[in-house]
Amino acid sequence: MLRIAIQSKGRLNEESLLLLQNIGIEVDAPKRKLLSKSQTFPIEALYLRDDDIPQVVAGGTATLGIVGLNEIEERKADVDILYRLGFGTCRLSLAVPKGEDYSGPSWFSGRRIATSYPNILRKYLEEKKIDARVEVITGSVEIAPAVGIADTIFDIVSSGSTLVANGLKEVETVFESEAVLIANKSRGVQEQAVIDDLLFRIESETVSRGKKYLLMNLPKSALEEAIKIIPAMRSPTVMPLASPDWCSLHSVVDAADLWIKVRQLKAIGAEGILVMDVDKIIL
Ligand code: ATP
Ligand code: MG
Repeated sequence: MLRIAIQSKGRLNEESLLLLQNIGIEVDAPKRKLLSKSQTFPIEALYLRDDDIPQVVAGGTATLGIVGLNEIEERKADVDILYRLGFGTCRLSLAVPKGEDYSGPSWFSGRRIATSYPNILRKYLEEKKIDARVEVITGSVEIAPAVGIADTIFDIVSSGSTLVANGLKEVETVFESEAVLIANKSRGVQEQAVIDDLLFRIESETVSRGKKYLLMNLPKSALEEAIKIIPAMRSPTVMPLASPDWCSLHSVVDAADLWIKVRQLKAIGAEGILVMDVDKIIL
């Protein structure tokens, strides 16, 4: 039974469980249980605070874990990063009070910077040869300048609205993060076989994310043009229709491009366009 460490509550919990569910692995949510065995896959979830996940996987108490790349980098955890999961995206940035006339990284020389990520920050300051004071605080970093603990902050940013609400502006992005699947380095052959199956499923799941299945009726004379608009994974599927001058064209497109493509296809004569969700793509 492979053990996977998952955040018990917080920003990564729901999406981690949803990912497992989408690849056919059902585990109980972390109500009062620390451990939950899946009935559908040889895996059990161990629910922890995200701070503890890197060490627990590095030490082998859990073979796998889902955690932010920022935590791995900060704790210099000795684990393998198996897969970037594409959720929990955020960045670690330096921010200064919004009225400051910011001139570049040397602005931070001699200033006090509050952060919960001292290791990542110190590495950046060393690289830039900036002599600043790092004030380590564990929560509510964004209020540090207002209460006088520091002059500026280095913290997690996603939309930036928390910074704005605290009268700060983001000036330097230092580290880009997202949730990652991590593994203990000395995992065995049998464990690796289960992990390979898991990775195969995760890949199919992430590839199909944000994809739409398109089918439409098209005059045969417009086929060449249509294939340029929707190239598909290998080549689009073309099927005959009862009417000899028409065909049915099927393809997969990125949801982000959907409306642009639909408009282009209509312009060359496509009719009866159907758009459907894609559940899985197995490459
Ligand atoms: P825990 O109680 O498990 O220690 P936490 O409060 O340390 O939780 P969360 O705020 O739940 O952590 O964030 C978990 C991870 O989510 C972060 O380490 C980061 O990788 C990611 N994340 C994505 N967006 C944000 C954001 N806007 N603020 C904080 N973390 C974010
Ligand atoms: Mg934490």
